[in-house]
Amino acid sequence: MKLLLLVASLLLLSLIPAPKTAVVQSVDVVFKNGNVYTANDKAPRAQAIAVKADRIVFAGSNADAQKYVGQNTRVVDLKGNTVLPGFTDSHQHLSGVGQREMTLNLEGTASLEDFLAKVKARVDQAKPGDWVTGRGWIETHWKPPVFPTRWDLDKIAPNNPVILGRADGHGAVANSAALKLAGVDKNTPDPFGGEISKDKQSGEPNGMLLDGAQGLVRQRVPRTSTADAERAVVLGVKRNIELGWTQIQDAGGSYADVEIFKKLYEAGTIKLRIYKAVHGPGPSATRLLSEGATIGAYGNRFTFRTIKVVSDGALGSRGAALLSPYSDAPDTKGFLTVKAEELRPMLIDALRKGIQVETHAIGDYANRFVLDEYEAAFKAVPEGERKVAEPRWRIEHAQIVNPADIPRFAKLGIIPSMQPSHAIGDLFFAPSRLGMDRLAGAYAWETFIKSGIVVPGGSDAPVERGEPMIEFYAAVARKDQKGFSGEGWHPEEAVSREQALKMFTIWPAYAAFEEKLRGTIEAGKLADLTILSADIMKIPPAEILKTRCVMTVINGEIVFAAD
Ligand SMILES: [Zn+2]
Repeated sequence: MKLLLLVASLLLLSLIPAPKTAVVQSVDVVFKNGNVYTANDKAPRAQAIAVKADRIVFAGSNADAQKYVGQNTRVVDLKGNTVLPGFTDSHQHLSGVGQREMTLNLEGTASLEDFLAKVKARVDQAKPGDWVTGRGWIETHWKPPVFPTRWDLDKIAPNNPVILGRADGHGAVANSAALKLAGVDKNTPDPFGGEISKDKQSGEPNGMLLDGAQGLVRQRVPRTSTADAERAVVLGVKRNIELGWTQIQDAGGSYADVEIFKKLYEAGTIKLRIYKAVHGPGPSATRLLSEGATIGAYGNRFTFRTIKVVSDGALGSRGAALLSPYSDAPDTKGFLTVKAEELRPMLIDALRKGIQVETHAIGDYANRFVLDEYEAAFKAVPEGERKVAEPRWRIEHAQIVNPADIPRFAKLGIIPSMQPSHAIGDLFFAPSRLGMDRLAGAYAWETFIKSGIVVPGGSDAPVERGEPMIEFYAAVARKDQKGFSGEGWHPEEAVSREQALKMFTIWPAYAAFEEKLRGTIEAGKLADLTILSADIMKIPPAEILKTRCVMTVINGEIVFAAD
């Protein structure tokens, strides 16, 4: 009987003038003619992707994708462009990126003249007396590579107070009007943890304020209103989506950010995925530990389950905590910025409550300290007493790690979350700070990967530019943007293209407990795609930097398309 029915229906089918391909399932969108890299080792390449609601239902050939094209299916011709799983920035400061857009964005400033021209353009638009603030300049490639001064700024900004942060956040230059408002003069003592840089001859402040000294002027700048804070997030999201990021992992902040994100998601104003952390130990961390995590809110766009700890400073300003003294400053080893007696109880509580911890650690001493603290907490709270058995705690940056400590990451299941652009900036001064020997184990991406742990990649914007193509290039080339690499750069720590692809897709997903949900292009996963103007898996490294995002897709929706 069954056989008869089958034969009959086959006959019927052959009589009806059917479409060339029978539709097995009508979907919302089919992307076709793509040069697709899936990051899925089982089926690494494809031409077409079918999407229904927020999910991928198919990835494969153009011909097979035809089966998903129904009457109401939108077909998007990718015209041979390169398609990757939606890129994730594993370490970014979203509000800071937005504020950089809102104030004066000085990233990429090529010389002192260029810097002053950009500042002058902004000052000319401001009313006399208005503050002019900005961020993002870095003098390392200026000729000569020296800090700007108050007197440089006074020439173009005699009537407005001005303060402009260096890209790394560890210094700022202020003009005379700003210093005057802040009451900073030659008699002002250096505050704790900071330095008012002085002119060697006159003893007058030269305008450069390092670390904690920036606060003397910054506290005079009118506070950001809630409306401005919201605008910063909206602008930061817009920039990220236009660059091709589909998720950013927001490395720190407070509940104030959480409230803003929720409000903007509820209004449908932002669509970027945000994986949020708040700082700890402190009130925000205490609140997260008591109220618990938020996972997958607003269409899997918002997850908040992480505490960010800062365990030391940065290498450039010699704040990174080292096991032995700085090679170019034998009287200092840097310093830790968190106390073990405050950290340990919080770690234990976090394990019991299923809260992830990620800790900034730059120096080899800081990295060892954090590994020790994590390990002690893991021992104190065995798996059976944890809310999440495999906690996936992270060390952010993991920049300078003693080679003996590298295998401990894989052994303990601790994830090194690293920023390729830091290496190609820092390696200009790291040899003098550390000496050649300690550079083995510095920015050691490939050694970490070979040790059996994943390495999620990020930008740390606004400390760096925050562009996926710069990060991808830095990871595979391990040269500066002009192609330079010097002694001690350890070219063997560059990663392959396949590894770099994973650094910005499936590995960040793993670091966020989302590897089953996103990070590859395969059926069942959320439909996040980053579509590029060139094939970054094949083109010469220098061309990666010229590659542009042509389309960004989040949850199956085209949220950005270049015209
Ligand atoms: Zn950071």
